[in-house]
Amino acid sequence: MRSLQEKIINEGRVLSSQVLKVDSFLNHQIDPQLMKEIGEEFAQLFAGEKVTKILTLESSGIAPSVMAGLALNVPVVFARKRQSLTLTENLLTAEVYSFTKKETNRIAVSASFITGEDRLLIIDDFLANGQAALGLLDIADQAGASVAGVGIVIEKAFQDGAQLISERGVRVESLARIQSLENGKVTFAAKEGVTS
Ligand code: 5GP
Repeated sequence: MRSLQEKIINEGRVLSSQVLKVDSFLNHQIDPQLMKEIGEEFAQLFAGEKVTKILTLESSGIAPSVMAGLALNVPVVFARKRQSLTLTENLLTAEVYSFTKKETNRIAVSASFITGEDRLLIIDDFLANGQAALGLLDIADQAGASVAGVGIVIEKAFQDGAQLISERGVRVESLARIQSLENGKVTFAAKEGVTS
């Protein structure tokens, strides 16, 4: 997605060879126009997959997911990272190690919102080592739901998340694939070869 790549080049900040900061349009301030395009792109990629619901993780997965839900005309469920007094019974849970926070969170979804009838599209903002997406896949399994695929806004292709998800037989679609963050520079992976 060219507009996303341009936004990453213009506004992304390489914090280290492992971490990209995109606080100005995705992780803190949100660019609604870009989120709309992202949602439409996911909807197009998974059109015909009979998706019934989108499953994501709070908080940064919510904006792209809502836009994809709008485009696909399906509800969006986000897994919670913190215990909530209102989220008390029939929980589907998974343990997720956070790449950026270096801590393990128990993520939880109410079983009443995902059932064996659902066909899920799992969406997240970043894909690094795949722990968040694998946790959401685990929750889908517990519910007996089928999974149309995993949609990622920004994949860091030098980490092994995409491979781990593909090995489970699940389709992964990333709108921007970063090959490297070495020397403070973002290099994108093209389908064949590498572009910067
Ligand atoms: P994973 O679970 O695939 O290892 O990491 C994905 C999660 O960690 C995402 O939900 C995202 O919040 C966070 N994350 C991983 N890498 C980055 C990064 O380079 N930049 C930002 N902003 N978040 C990241």
